[in-house]
Amino acid sequence: MIRVNENYSKLQSSYLFSEIVRRVKAYQADHAEKKIIRLGIGDVTEPLPPACIEAMHKAVDEMAQRTTFRGYGPEQGYPFLREAIAQNDFQARGTQIEADEIFVSDGSKCDTANIQELFGDKLTIAIPDPVYPVYVDTNVMAGRTGKNTKGRYKGLVYLETSEANGFVPALPEQPVDLIYLCFPNNPTGATATRNQLAAWVKYARENKALILFDAAYEAFIRDPTIPHSIYEIEGARDVAIEFRSFSKTAGFTGTRCAFTVVPKTVVAYTKKGEAVPLNPMWNRRHTTKFNGVAYPVQRAAEAVYSEEGKTQTRALTDFYLGNAAIIRSTLAELGYSMTGGENSPYIWVNVGKDSWKFFDKLLKRAQVVTTPGAGFGRCGQGFIRISAFNSRENVEEAMKRLRKVLK
Ligand SMILES: *Cc1c(COP(=O)(O)O)cnc(C)c1O
Repeated sequence: MIRVNENYSKLQSSYLFSEIVRRVKAYQADHAEKKIIRLGIGDVTEPLPPACIEAMHKAVDEMAQRTTFRGYGPEQGYPFLREAIAQNDFQARGTQIEADEIFVSDGSKCDTANIQELFGDKLTIAIPDPVYPVYVDTNVMAGRTGKNTKGRYKGLVYLETSEANGFVPALPEQPVDLIYLCFPNNPTGATATRNQLAAWVKYARENKALILFDAAYEAFIRDPTIPHSIYEIEGARDVAIEFRSFSKTAGFTGTRCAFTVVPKTVVAYTKKGEAVPLNPMWNRRHTTKFNGVAYPVQRAAEAVYSEEGKTQTRALTDFYLGNAAIIRSTLAELGYSMTGGENSPYIWVNVGKDSWKFFDKLLKRAQVVTTPGAGFGRCGQGFIRISAFNSRENVEEAMKRLRKVLK
């Protein structure tokens, strides 16, 4: 008898974004004439940088000629891309990461989920609250949690964050084995200082724990004191895996290219306490289950590191940060407190009441879609996330409407 993975039945039924879609559809059905502005889902709106387009066109032409055609490439990514990443994202910043520690993939969402295959099934997992739902749900699917009661899964250690700790979690009071951290954060837009990250690295070293560091938004960092990578912290090479993506950096959400950094010194332990390096394990997993990112896409990603590519991607993130500044100043003027939006494309606003009620109010009275904070965890109640990923015109129009409705 074919059996089903019953862990799936533990998942909470309404996934945040499908509930938003449902409410927006229901509203639109009765108000077809109203123009809705979406500042909800975290997807980019601006086209790919010209340098990426040019590189991709050239690569497509290579694929059309027998002499330059390419079939399967290395599963881990072409050396040209792995080397460009190691040099520009790490070595140029003084961090010691080599090309063979970079694994190119088609997305950080799947990488953050797939990495769990390397770990045992009885782990104590620390999850920040609020959090990007993927970390939690994929652990539920893998059977690493108990049932959900009142919005929390049994067996997970929730790291609560709030305005009081600047949405940077304190170290756990009980020992944990696996720690998820994401900075600049989705959904709160919070960033972690060097000292805050150093405390986590020290904790992981002392407790033989592992940090999964999601740096999908590092390209939005403007404050020169904020680390772009966990490897800027001494000792992190032994206790952290980092996830990066071209999705938000260069508008690759529909093009698909990301990478995971697994240093050769990072380890996990056997039951007997023997250290096992994770780099060869991830290499084995990646080469067995993945067949590489499309050649033209890898060429487009490589172009992000060319002189023009650097200027163009900087302009792209500057553009979204310009939107974020407009959102921030409007909400400040209306008397709201918030985090994010300065080194991140998300603004996390304290709305002082039920997030879904506030969401409905903005939808029905301003026709502006936001993301209710409660959808990211219990500690997100009372907040909404506003995304800066949109055209300038839409952001300005949305803020004009908010001024009217929230005055
Ligand atoms: C958008 C995002 C990613 C990137 O996901 P891709 O699969 O690479 O597009 C990763 N982590 C977080 C928290 C994100 O918001």
